[in-house]
Amino acid sequence: MGRVYNFSAGPAVLPEEVLREAAAEMLDYRGTGMSVMEMSHRSKAFEGIIGEAEQDLRDLLAIPANYKVMFLQGGASQQFAMIPMNLMKNRVADYIVTGQWAKKAYSEAQKYGKANKIASSEDKTFSYIPDCSDLPISPDADYVYICENNTIYGTKFKTLPNTKGKDLVADVSSCFLSEPADITKYAVMYGGVQKNIGPAGVVIVIMREDLITEDVLPGTPTMLQYKTHADAGSLYNTPPAYGIYICGKVFKWIKKQGGLAAMKEINEKKAKILYDFLDSSSLFKGTVRKEDRSIMNVPFVTGSAELDAKFVAESKAAGLENLKGHRTVGGMRASIYNAMPMAGVEKLVAFMKDFEAKNG
Ligand SMILES: *Cc1c(COP(=O)(O)O)cnc(C)c1O
Repeated sequence: MGRVYNFSAGPAVLPEEVLREAAAEMLDYRGTGMSVMEMSHRSKAFEGIIGEAEQDLRDLLAIPANYKVMFLQGGASQQFAMIPMNLMKNRVADYIVTGQWAKKAYSEAQKYGKANKIASSEDKTFSYIPDCSDLPISPDADYVYICENNTIYGTKFKTLPNTKGKDLVADVSSCFLSEPADITKYAVMYGGVQKNIGPAGVVIVIMREDLITEDVLPGTPTMLQYKTHADAGSLYNTPPAYGIYICGKVFKWIKKQGGLAAMKEINEKKAKILYDFLDSSSLFKGTVRKEDRSIMNVPFVTGSAELDAKFVAESKAAGLENLKGHRTVGGMRASIYNAMPMAGVEKLVAFMKDFEAKNG
């Protein structure tokens, strides 16, 4: 039984090296005589694991000292509520709706205050990023919200919106650590790790310190207050310990690849192989406006639902897994996250060429 090339949008491919290391440490983590899964989160060994994970993440993203890093649970979806509960002091926030995830966050925020949809690309099935250089930002908005990489539709903000001085909150679930980022441009950067970093069950929140206060909406549960977790170093209650351990290994793996600048170069190379083929193909075509293309999630179609289904079935048989598009959009989608080897993308393109020759 060999490993397949897994193009899943999430949970997604992890570096084989990381999985092997974790396997080797499964029964006895570095002389502790137990697995990280069995370990107290208050133990010396785990303190080391979470401390190093945070430091490596800080190194990778050059996170300034006035930002806190939190390892939380509840997935990215829980942040859709936590963000307004903690940050909507004026009960006003502006949302840029570029896909399902941003739309869900926008709907959730409406429970807590006035959420304004200040831009959207829904008119063209979220196939582009709207011009965000001069939006009608609300004067009393507590923050401006974006989903930076739209996992389902395959679009990415190539420049951040002009928030006119307002705090920017970004869901980066599907582009986390895919390239360097300037943290100082964000008030909050957060993401579920199961797309590009680790196993499901951990969400990482990087938040400017001054936003972490007790001044939250009335009734906000203790567990949903950032201050609870920031003050306790993500150890207020039992954290998703094993997941954090794997994230830590992935951070070290990224450092070994040369950090985020190197990661970006590799990711752009992989994406170019696929997009160049899509642009020259007579059968397949990409669904996203060129300038807004994500280098992580690449949706494409043949134009025939029958051929799409045939492609998904035959690619699976060839060891190329999870290429079916999201159930709401159909077609195909190749998620080519950090851990997808170049050889996986090359094999996919070779398979597509062959499929085109037989079915085009
Ligand atoms: C997958 C995804 C989510 C939802 O993540 P959960 O951890 O399942 O809640 C939110 N935002 C983006 C951009 C995603 O890709």
